[in-house]
Amino acid sequence: MIVFDLEKCIKCRKCEKICPTLAIGFDEFPCLAYPEKCWHCCACIKECPAEAIRLRLPPHIGDQRYEMLVKDEGKSMIFQILFEGRKIDEMEIQVRK
Ligand code: SF4
Ligand code: SF4
Repeated sequence: MIVFDLEKCIKCRKCEKICPTLAIGFDEFPCLAYPEKCWHCCACIKECPAEAIRLRLPPHIGDQRYEMLVKDEGKSMIFQILFEGRKIDEMEIQVRK
């Protein structure tokens, strides 16, 4: 499930605009207005300039304290696994453009 850190959010609304399924709503702050529409593509996570969006891992992978952050570094994608907000693992995948 996509979760928002509203203390980090700068209200730029980029997540709302990039979401291909229109799952994100905005009313003062962004929220996952239509969770059933979210297909966990992580586009919103990559687009967020404040690193305020994360993918909470499903129960069969980890409990609620595990989250994933995705960063687009141009020539590579960075996938970070966080536990209670702290990075515990990282994977980098080269991107062919
Ligand atoms: S993960 Fe993809 S489908 Fe889900 S809210 Fe983000 S951009 Fe939309
Ligand atoms: S992209 Fe990030 S900073 Fe911008 S509105 Fe969405 S959550 Fe907030």
